[in-house]
Amino acid sequence: MPSYTFVSTANAFVLRGAVPVFVDIRADTLNIDETLIEAAITPKTKAIVAVHYAGVSCEMDTIKAIAKKHHLFLIEDAAQGMMASYKGQPLGSIGDLGTVSFHETKNVISGEGGALLINDKTWIEDAEIIREKGTNRSKFFRNQVDKYTWVSLGSSFLPSEIIAAFLWAQLEHAQEITDRRLHHWQLYHDGLADLENREVLRRPIVPADCQHNAHMYQILLPSLAQRTQFIETLRAAGILSVFHYVPLHSSPAGMKYGRSHGDLALTTNLSERLVRLPLWVGMTTTDIEVVLDTIHKSSR
Ligand SMILES: *Cc1c(COP(=O)(O)O)cnc(C)c1O
Repeated sequence: MPSYTFVSTANAFVLRGAVPVFVDIRADTLNIDETLIEAAITPKTKAIVAVHYAGVSCEMDTIKAIAKKHHLFLIEDAAQGMMASYKGQPLGSIGDLGTVSFHETKNVISGEGGALLINDKTWIEDAEIIREKGTNRSKFFRNQVDKYTWVSLGSSFLPSEIIAAFLWAQLEHAQEITDRRLHHWQLYHDGLADLENREVLRRPIVPADCQHNAHMYQILLPSLAQRTQFIETLRAAGILSVFHYVPLHSSPAGMKYGRSHGDLALTTNLSERLVRLPLWVGMTTTDIEVVLDTIHKSSR
C-alpha cells in the first residue's frame, strides 16, 4: 500500500495482524507507483492495496496483472472514488474487494459510513455474517434457517435506518453532486493554468484512462516553506486550505506497525508541498473566483 494515504487504509490490515508495507507514489497522480510494487512482494505478501487518490484511478491493468501473477488479492481503497472510473469501469469494482467511504468529507455522504464492494460472489455470505455481528441473521431473514446464532467473528457494522435513508437520498443525487463538483474543479483548473505556466504551482494531473469525480482540487507548491506561506495567505483572507497527509511511514504508528519499501522520497517530498483548495458541492462560482483572485494577488 502507499504511505501517502489516510490512516484507515493501514488500520484495516494492522487490526487483523498484518504488516503494511509502504511503497512510493507516482509524481503525477500521487497514486502507488505500479513499477515499484513487484520488488516489494515477499513470500508473506497477501494483498496489494490500490488507493485511488482524489478519485483518480491507479494504473489498474498493470496492478491487476501483478496481483494475478503473484496470486495476491487486489483490494481497492476507493474511499475517494465514488462515481469515478478507470477505462470506463467504476472504481471499487476492479479488484477482488473495494471500499467506498460515505464520511462527511467525501462526495456522497451519510456522516459516517461506507460500503464494501464484493467482486467475488463466494465472499458474500462471509461478509453478511461479519456485518451482522458474527451471526447468520441475514439467512434467518431470508427464511433459510429457522433461528439465527453466532457462527463466526463479526461486529456491528450496519448503519442505522436513519443514516441509510440519508445516504439513499445522497445516492439519488450522486450524478448531480458529481457534475457540480466537476464544474467547480474545472473553474479552478482553468483559473490556475497561468500560474502553472509561470511555475508558481502545479495543477492536478489526470491520465487519459481515468474519469475522476472532482473529489478534491489539490495543488503542489515548490517547497514546504512556500506551502506554509500560501496556507497563511489564504487564511488571512478567510479561506481555509489544508494539507495532507502526514505519510504513514513517518508517523509513530506507521513506524511501529508498518515497514517501508525503499526510501519513499517522492512521498516525503510531495506530501510536504501539497495543499487542497476548498471544494464543496454547495460552493458558488463567486466563491471559487474569490479563491482564485486571492491566489493570483499573492502570486504577483
Ligand atoms: C476517507 C478515507 C478513508 C476512511 O474512510 P472512513 O469512512 O472514515 O472509514 C480511507 N481511505 C482513504 C483514502 C480515505 O480518503
